[in-house]
Amino acid sequence: MSSQAHSDFAHRLLGWFDRHGRHGLPWQQRRTPYRVWISEIMLQQTQVATVIPYFERFMARFPDIGTLAAAELDTVLAHWSGLGYYARARNLHRAAQIVHRQHDGHFPEDIEQVQALPGIGRSTAGAILSLALGQHHAILDGNCKRVLARCFTIEGWPGRTAVANTLWQQTERLTPHKRTADFNQAMMDLGATVCSRSRPNCDSCPLAADCRACIEGRQTDFPGRKPKKILPVRETVMLLLQDSEDRILLQRRPPAGIWGGLLSLPELPAGSDVTAAGREQWGLQVEEAAHWPPLRHTFSHFHLDITPVHARLVTTHAVHDDTWLWHHPQDTAPGGLPTPVAQLLDRLSKSAL
Ligand code: SF4
Repeated sequence: MSSQAHSDFAHRLLGWFDRHGRHGLPWQQRRTPYRVWISEIMLQQTQVATVIPYFERFMARFPDIGTLAAAELDTVLAHWSGLGYYARARNLHRAAQIVHRQHDGHFPEDIEQVQALPGIGRSTAGAILSLALGQHHAILDGNCKRVLARCFTIEGWPGRTAVANTLWQQTERLTPHKRTADFNQAMMDLGATVCSRSRPNCDSCPLAADCRACIEGRQTDFPGRKPKKILPVRETVMLLLQDSEDRILLQRRPPAGIWGGLLSLPELPAGSDVTAAGREQWGLQVEEAAHWPPLRHTFSHFHLDITPVHARLVTTHAVHDDTWLWHHPQDTAPGGLPTPVAQLLDRLSKSAL
């Protein structure tokens, strides 16, 4: 593509952005690297409409890096509860502490230093510094990959290094020095609202005249799919142990690994005898146990088939270890909850009404 064609691409995209792009999102007001950073991390894997109320609550509670760095991890996880992919929240917290310690609380403005922070890759670093400070950096988020793969019929799954390198070369060539922030925002907006995954609206697209996938009628061939792998299935029994005061026993998981640092339900291997295990493992006397319908939670590398068992206890029982706590299911949990645990507690609260 000639340099004239590159500037046409940017010109058409920016013209469309001025008329149809998203300009009123909360993180587009009072733009600072901190606010853009939080929004970019929340927007990874999550739709804009879902992110907006989380972003506003997060900003109200953690208005700056110092507040976030000083907060307990539990409080941060509680404000993330329901967004999923909790490693994002743990990384935000760690990164805020690093910025506080190593950069005097000022978010770094050098892309290498930004990329050195936990949870921030090349595209996110470019997005933060371009959107908040107008620096000239290209981005390559999922939306941008889709638009470029289609416009230039770049074959192959973008998770492969060679394909990602080609996409990076393309986005760097196209990103203009003027209005870089608007161009990057426009790529994200076009991918989210026009060049959607399954039904791109090419009739409304400013790039349609030169988009090779559109011209060839092969839009849904791009980007190439990830090679399928069959996920293994693991099974577990999750216990809703409810004491005589209607409280549920929760267990804080170790900081690393699946659901690290979150509050979860005690678990037993599939097929366990709940009454015997309650007595032997925790000294709890189970009065009656009811099996609830199973549910499946899928992680990136396995399915977890959960058999929930609601067990009424004869009495309550003191917990002397700070990894355990009793919790009223109607109350706000004092930490983040994995999605299936939040669903089970919700189901329990509703069944009590
Ligand atoms: S013309 Fe269609 S496929 Fe090509 S970038 Fe636009 S919406 Fe996507």
